Amino acid sequence: MKLKFLGTGTSQGVPVIGCKCKVCKSENPKDRRFRSSALITTEEGAKFLIDCGPDFRMQMLQNHEEHVDAVLLTHEHNDHVIGLDDMRPLIFRQNKEMPLFCHKRVGREVMERFPYAFADEKYPGAPRFELVEITEKFNLMNTEIIPVEVMHNQIPVLGFRFNNFGYITDASAIPENEKEKLRGLEYLVLNCLRKDRPHPAHFILPDVLQLFEELKPKKLYLTHISHEMGLHVETEKELPENVHMAWDGLEIDF
Ligand SMILES: [Zn+2]
Ligand SMILES: [Zn+2]
Ligand SMILES: [Zn+2]
Repeated sequence: MKLKFLGTGTSQGVPVIGCKCKVCKSENPKDRRFRSSALITTEEGAKFLIDCGPDFRMQMLQNHEEHVDAVLLTHEHNDHVIGLDDMRPLIFRQNKEMPLFCHKRVGREVMERFPYAFADEKYPGAPRFELVEITEKFNLMNTEIIPVEVMHNQIPVLGFRFNNFGYITDASAIPENEKEKLRGLEYLVLNCLRKDRPHPAHFILPDVLQLFEELKPKKLYLTHISHEMGLHVETEKELPENVHMAWDGLEIDF
């Protein structure tokens, strides 16, 4: 299987509009971060999108991707769902409802955000979604997916495990019982907003380094990164061995 990071930025993206810091002014493509999202390609070629934020359209175009079989939503914040309307070209071409796998609460929020997609009589050109509630391990197109429930301040958010790969975004805590699902991993992705100054809803660098020690994945990749994490080339040198900042376009085989 393969995971490609389509976006590795926090909710405002990097660069931040109007910011003159060295990260936001950097010419290095690795310092330009779309809102966090990832595309999984299975051995059989099925494509699962994790989250569909405001950069979805440009993420698909820039990566020459045109097909998604299902969307896995971590939670309802706009930087993770607001691109769903831009799935219309895929929905029309595939001529079926796009399945959205998510928490029941997230499904309700999606219905409120996109009521026209769920109307009995739809406007021509409206998107069509099929909400699929997930609570535990499930099988999607011959791939086992294990949801991992983490806390994002007060709200439960889903992360996902595929084989030896774990993907967690927008977490500020991982409950002890859920940590069991994240052991023995080759790769773990964790959200990491900035280097210091605690945040009520997101891990910062000391948190993820502690989890790296505790959960012992072979490699740890950071995502949902803000401009406060510093320049990619500089911060990479400060990180311990086998801990890396992800970047938009990075692909991992597992
Ligand atoms: Zn987010
Ligand atoms: Zn900045
Ligand atoms: Zn969030």
